[in-house]
Amino acid sequence: MSAIMDLLLFNIGELATLSHGDVSKPLSGTEMANREELIIESGSSMLISQGKIAKIGPEQELLEEFAPDMENGKSNLIEILNVNGAAIIPGLVDCHTHLLWSGDRSNEIRLRQKGLTYQDISNQGGGINKTVISTRKASQKELESIGHRNLLQSSNYGTTTIEAKSGYGLSVDSEIKILEATASLDGINHNVLPTWLGAHDFPKEKKPSEYMDELIHEQLPLVAEKNLAKWIDVFCEPGWFNLEQTETLVNNAKNFGLKSRLHVDEFVDSGGLSLAAELGSCSADHVGFSNSDSRDKANKSGTMQVFLPGTPYVLGKDLGEGIQECLENNWIFSLATDFNPNCQTLSLPFIASLATHRIGIDPLTALVACTRNPASTLNDELENCVGSINVGGPADFNILNAKSIDYWCQTPGVSPISKTFFSGSIVKSY
Ligand SMILES: [Zn+2]
Repeated sequence: MSAIMDLLLFNIGELATLSHGDVSKPLSGTEMANREELIIESGSSMLISQGKIAKIGPEQELLEEFAPDMENGKSNLIEILNVNGAAIIPGLVDCHTHLLWSGDRSNEIRLRQKGLTYQDISNQGGGINKTVISTRKASQKELESIGHRNLLQSSNYGTTTIEAKSGYGLSVDSEIKILEATASLDGINHNVLPTWLGAHDFPKEKKPSEYMDELIHEQLPLVAEKNLAKWIDVFCEPGWFNLEQTETLVNNAKNFGLKSRLHVDEFVDSGGLSLAAELGSCSADHVGFSNSDSRDKANKSGTMQVFLPGTPYVLGKDLGEGIQECLENNWIFSLATDFNPNCQTLSLPFIASLATHRIGIDPLTALVACTRNPASTLNDELENCVGSINVGGPADFNILNAKSIDYWCQTPGVSPISKTFFSGSIVKSY
C-alpha cells in the first residue's frame, strides 16, 4: 500500500499557481499582479500523488481519466475532494522568524506607552536580555514543545515553509541548543530552515571583542561541524554589530560554506543594505530606512529585500515607502512576519493585510511576496522548489474559505484558510 493515497481535487475556484516562467526565480513589479499569467480561472482539477502535484487540468478531463466511476462525489478508484468552488493558493513561505525563545515580555507595551525607550526598558531588566535569560534556562525539550506550539499557529495561517533563527541564547551551549531544537521540528508540518543568529546582540557578561572571538572561533565552527544552519544572520545596526564586524562575520561564515541573510537598516540607514549587496547575501531584512541607491544595488546583486511591516506596526511607527519604491522600480522584494517577543504573529495573511490595507499593495502582489519570492531565497536548501503550484512540485497549498484569491489577506486576525496541505497531507482542516 502506498503511504499516501492519490487524491483528486475538483470544483476548484481561482487557482493561484504563480508558476509563470522559471518558478525558481522571483517576480518583480507589475508581473507580480499579472492575473492572466499567475491564476487559472475556476473549473480546474488537481491530482496529488506521492506528496506531489501530479496533474493540473480541466475538471471534466481529469474526472473522466481518474474517477470515471464517480457517483455522489465518491469513487472506488481514487480519493476525491470537492473544494466547493473555493480558491487555492500555494503554501505560504515565511522567510524571517525568530521561532524559538522562552518567556514573556508583553508587559513592555505599557512601559513603551509611558514613554520609556528601548534602552530604559533594557536597564530595568527587560528587552532582549530578559528573553536571553529565560531561553538559556529552558531545556531543549521545552524549546521543542514551544516550537511545536508556534508551528501549529503558523500552519493555522497557511505557512508550509519557514525560516527559523537562533539568537536568544548568545552563548555556545544555548545557541547550539536552540538550533538542535529547531532541527527536530523539520518535516512535521513545515519545511523548517535554520539560520544561526549568534550575532543578534552582545551578551551582558562579555566585552564586544570577546564575544566576536567566541562567535568566530567557537560558535561558528561548531554550528558548521554539526550542520545546524544554512545561513548566518547578523543584527547590523548602529549600537549593535557595525559594518566592519558584520563583514568579518559573514566572510568567516563563507569559509564554512554558510550563506548570509542580514538584519539591516531597521532604525537608520547605516549602509547595511549596500553591504549585504556587496557580500552577496541571499536576503537583507527590515530595510525600512535603506536609500534608493542601495535598493538598486541589492536588486542587481540578487539580494532579496525582505520587508517586515509587523515590526513597525507593533512599535507604532510608520510602515515606510520601501515596498512601493521596489514595485515602481521592478526591484525584487518579499514580506515576512519577523515573529519575535515584541511582534508575536506567525500570520502572513495578517502581514499581507498590512501591505494591502495600509500600503495599498494588490493582494496578488502580496501573495507573490509571501510565496514564490521568499522561496527563491530558500529553494537551494530544499529538495523541491516551493512557493508555487506546478506539476512535479510538492503538494504544499491552501484551500481558502472563499472563491477569490484576493480573500487570502482580507481577514485580519482571522485565518482565511480551511485546509492546509504539506507534502500532500492535510496539516490543518476546519
Ligand atoms: Zn528579525
